[in-house]
Amino acid sequence: MESRISLRCRECGRLFEPIALHVCDFCFGPLEVAYDYDAISETISRSSIEAGPRSMWRYHELLPVGNGEAITLGAGFTPLVKADRLGAVLGLKNLWVKNDTANPTGSFKDRVVSVALTKARQLGFTVAACASTGNLANSVAAHAARAGMDSIVLIPSNLEAAKIMMTAVYGGTVVAVEGTYDDVNRLCAELTSEHPSWAFVNVNVRSYYAEGSKTLAFETAEQLGWQAPDHVVVPIASGSQLTKIKKGFDELVKVGLIDSADVRISGAQAAGCSPVATAFAEGTDDIRPVKPDTIAKSLAIGNPADGYYALKVIEQSGGGCAAVTDAEILDGISLLARTEGIFAETAGGVTIASLKKLVENGTIIPDERVVVMVTGHGLKTVEALSGTVGPTVTIKPTLAAFDEALAGRSLSPNQEIS
Ligand SMILES: *Cc1c(COP(=O)(O)O)cnc(C)c1O
Ligand SMILES: [Zn+2]
Repeated sequence: MESRISLRCRECGRLFEPIALHVCDFCFGPLEVAYDYDAISETISRSSIEAGPRSMWRYHELLPVGNGEAITLGAGFTPLVKADRLGAVLGLKNLWVKNDTANPTGSFKDRVVSVALTKARQLGFTVAACASTGNLANSVAAHAARAGMDSIVLIPSNLEAAKIMMTAVYGGTVVAVEGTYDDVNRLCAELTSEHPSWAFVNVNVRSYYAEGSKTLAFETAEQLGWQAPDHVVVPIASGSQLTKIKKGFDELVKVGLIDSADVRISGAQAAGCSPVATAFAEGTDDIRPVKPDTIAKSLAIGNPADGYYALKVIEQSGGGCAAVTDAEILDGISLLARTEGIFAETAGGVTIASLKKLVENGTIIPDERVVVMVTGHGLKTVEALSGTVGPTVTIKPTLAAFDEALAGRSLSPNQEIS
């Protein structure tokens, strides 16, 4: 069955066998998975997908491994929530939140890891490894546990407590590195050659890993009644997710599941780590690496591997790219929570604050059908909120104390939406 896919160099177009290879032997360009879309369009249909599992694996025909052997905790098919209250605040008539906080380990990373480890096991690897800004570590450790694989994850030592705990609990090896994510990633690149029997999900099996992000586009289109939205807003760390969301919508057209995918794709970054947004604002292709300084640690990649490709997708699709401050990120978290009941981590705050900015600067048009990707759960980054939320009042356990404390107060003092 694997003959239906190959790896293709994004730069020179050369084709390779679907093995654990991520850069082109000839030009060092990155490799991506290529499919025989004509063959897939013969067998795939809306009804075959709708009859599949309520997970990302309902789209297995457009993933680089079959669903029979999937390593899965049930990632994907997360809610697409019509966000009318948030839309009203922002002046948008047709807004949806793709709530990927609902994934098994609380972030969109479960999509990419499920594909990467399934492929890795198929290729004979028994050890799952990664460099992570946190969410990837959670997901690799969990999926490795599920599959009975060993895991070794490397993280920056200054990560949020919940992300370290949520990785360590699954019993794998967790190495905290005194350095930035970019330092951790460099170390992992060296380890990849030292330990050829380890599957580094975002290094030597990165081409397969990346394919998991397409399912965000597939689900969005299906949940909109088999239509692409007009505009999506996507957070950028390495830029992989953004480029693959584009690939996902295009593939649905190629295999005949939707008629057109004229989707504008906008990026969201934290101002404290905004190499792509900065290049976009300056109108240059040259993405200059930065040293991250932001509360949005899951997006803190100063030298994004797919930054150039993400920038091209944004520009060619007619989207924009915003950068938002830490204060705006906290406002974004709170706005989403108060209007829609969705508690997102700092990366979600980046996306919501960027959405607001892109509406304000005219990139997003009020009646466009807009989908925002909210990619990680708020319980992962509670530190970021400390000192900003707490009990409305603290009282003695008596009716009198209650009446006195709440006399004349609105029941929703936090609902005064700016
Ligand atoms: C990893 C991550 C992203 C996006 O990552 P890319 O490297 O750009 O694909 C977005 N949101 C969260 C919460 C993440 O953990
Ligand atoms: Zn090449």
